[in-house]
Formats: sequence, C-alpha cells, structure tokens
Amino acid sequence: MKTNSDDLAIYGAAPAFHETLHVGRPNIGDRKRFYERIDDMLNRRWLSNNGPYVQEFEQRVAEMIGVRHCIAMCNGTIALEIAIRALELKGEVILPSFTFVATAHALQWQEITPVFCDVDPATHTIDPACIEKMITPRTTGIIGVHVWGRPCAIEALEQIAGKHRLKLLFDAAHGFGCSRGGRMLGSFGNAEVFSFHPTKFFNTGEGGAIATNDDALAQKIRLMKNFGFSGKHDDVIYVGTNGKMSELSALTGLTNLESIAQFIAVNCENYETYREELAGLPGISLISYDQQEKCNYQYVVLEIDEQVTGIGRDRLVEILRAENVLARRYFYPGCHRMEPYRSYFPNAGLLLPHTERLTTRVLSLPTGTAVSQEDIREICRIIRIALSQRPEEYDRLNGSLAVASQAGDPPQHLPVFMKG
Ligand SMILES: *Cc1c(COP(=O)(O)O)cnc(C)c1O
Repeated sequence: MKTNSDDLAIYGAAPAFHETLHVGRPNIGDRKRFYERIDDMLNRRWLSNNGPYVQEFEQRVAEMIGVRHCIAMCNGTIALEIAIRALELKGEVILPSFTFVATAHALQWQEITPVFCDVDPATHTIDPACIEKMITPRTTGIIGVHVWGRPCAIEALEQIAGKHRLKLLFDAAHGFGCSRGGRMLGSFGNAEVFSFHPTKFFNTGEGGAIATNDDALAQKIRLMKNFGFSGKHDDVIYVGTNGKMSELSALTGLTNLESIAQFIAVNCENYETYREELAGLPGISLISYDQQEKCNYQYVVLEIDEQVTGIGRDRLVEILRAENVLARRYFYPGCHRMEPYRSYFPNAGLLLPHTERLTTRVLSLPTGTAVSQEDIREICRIIRIALSQRPEEYDRLNGSLAVASQAGDPPQHLPVFMKG
C-alpha cells in the first residue's frame, strides 16, 4: 500500500501492480455454457451464414431492447458503414469530433464528408445548439454518439432531423444495456449501431449490430451484409458486402448475454468505489450516470482541472502508467485532429472549443470484472498521493518527464521509469 510520494513508481519505487491493469478488459460469461455451445456448433458443422446461433442471438437482443429488428454483424465499424449506406447518406453528415475515430471513418470510407460538431461539456455528447449552424444544402444526416453509454440529446436531435428532413443515426457502441426515458437505446432514430468488441461492456469476440424499427431498412441491411443475396440460391438482387456475424461470435454473445446482470452489478460496484475513494478531491470530477435509467457503468471517466490540481491529465497518466495502471485518454485528440481530417480541415478546432478543452482533461480508468475492489482503492490512493504533492515535487516530476517526453504526446514506453 502506497502512502506518500516516495512510494510512487515514477520516482523509482516498485510499481503498485505486478500485472498491468487495462481499460476495457473483456467481461467473460460462463465457460461451461460456452464450451457446450461450441460443441453444438461443431457437431452441426454450421459456422456462418445466418446459422441458428446468429438467429437466436438476434432475437434475444431485439427482445431485450424492445426493437423490431436486430441485424448482427461482424463488427461495429462495418455495421456503421452499412447503416450509413442503407440510409443513403451522402454529401455531408454531422457528427461529434469527440468519439472513437471509427464513427468518422465509416463516413469517409464512403467519401461522405464528416462535419465535426462540438459537444456539450456537461454531457460530453453532441451539442444540439451547434448542429443547425453546420447544416448546408449538402447535409443528409446526423450521427449522434451515446458517449460513455450516456444517451445523447435524442429528442433535440430528432427535432432538428425532422425539421431539416435529415436522417438520424445513433452510434450506440457504448450504449448496450442503457436506457433513455425507460426505453432501451437501440430503438431511436432511423437506426442505432452497437459494437460488441471485447473492450465494450458486452462482447461477441468481434461483432456489432444494427437495430431498427424500420422493416424496409432492415431488409435492405440484410441484403447488404450478405453480398446482396436474396435468400434464394444464387439470386443476387443488390450490391452488397460481407458483414455477417459468425456462429462463434453469436454463441459467445448468447453466453455473455446470460451474465449481463452480473457484469452491470460489478461495474456499478466498481464505479461506486471509485466515487467514494475519490470524493472530495479538488479539481477531480468523476462523470455521473442517471440513476433513474438503466446503465452499464462501463466507463469510469475523470475530468481533471489542472488549474486546481496543479497536475495535468497527461502527468497523471504517466504516474499511473509507472504503477502499471494503463489509464487511457479517450478520445484524445479528437477526430478533427487525426488524419485525414486534420489535413482536410486544419481549422476545424476553431469551431470545437469544448472538444479541444475536454480532450485535454479526460481520463478513463480500469473497471469491469478483471479489476478488484482492492485494486480500485490502490488506484485511488495513487491518485490522491499524486495530487497531494508539494510544488517542488512537481518540479522533480517535470524534470524526469522532460527527459523522456516528446512535444505534448507522451510515448508509450518511458525508459526512464523502467525497473531492472
Ligand atoms: C468501438 C467503437 C466503434 C467501432 O466498433 P468496432 O466493433 O470496434 O468496429 C465505433 N464507435 C464507437 C463510439 C466505438 O467506441
């Protein structure tokens, strides 16, 4: 147990954790059920092409969400691309810059221009007040992202989309198991897209899905994800790609679905422990979740106000990394500062002041079933020690960091902190 700054690994002490703690270690369901289902699948020799596990998985998810159609896919990015294409988006589409880069890439991949919109600093989701200013005659749609599983301003987005006759898609990659007004995410807008990547709250190994209440759209998506095959032999009636989910992924999903309540309970307990242990620390705030809604508590995100803490977010990340706690800076530096967007729109940041500020303040901490309560208490002790340092200790830290750090973007491995 670490008690003062001499105990910090960044100054040469042993790291708090022998094994590295990661953000987004997968939640894994019952192994026995998993192996039983694998046996079943192998006995059937049916590994893909809308097999019984995919069908069962789609049905279970649709029931859980309360949506007419769930179309399972090979991953969230392909699901986004297909949803975008099925909705016939073109020209320009408005989305937040504060999201995982796949949201923007899914547009750019199809030569649709992503138009980056600022976020509301209180919610970290797209600010509806900024959207209308970005609409042009070329705009065809809006993509809202439920960042951290907190629903974006769905009603306001619906209103704007209705008024300007725009399509409305939601990137619900973080939002599985979360609700808005008691209604599960997945049933809003023209369609919603989930990711079931292992880093997400619920996983299928790799995977994703499109959820929609629109029958015609669902049919079109089913054609597109299966080469345009009509379902009859050799009958191609549409241009398509291969977005199919495999049976192995679907059975992983079915098995993990059975443990969802337990995953949520663990995440919720972890979140509460972080909240208690970090309570009252000036300049540090933990994002909150609406207790009235269903929520997966998958993200433990801190906002660090360097003016108050005296220590910046990036310094805190380095201190934690030295202890083998791989805190992440999601979504630094914002899509608009990544290629090719940075070259296409070098001045985009001028319209994104809240995004620019937020990306320098946020920090995601490890949670999920792979992290124990005692781990969390130790992480919080490290944060407290880091924040309680005297100004001359910051100088010591700045001195040692200056040796290794490159212009603002700390490298993954800092030789100066490595232990023999
Ligand atoms: C993970 C993620 C995606 C991409 O999903 P994959 O299944 O990894 O392709 C898209 N958008 C957001 C917001 C994500 O977090």
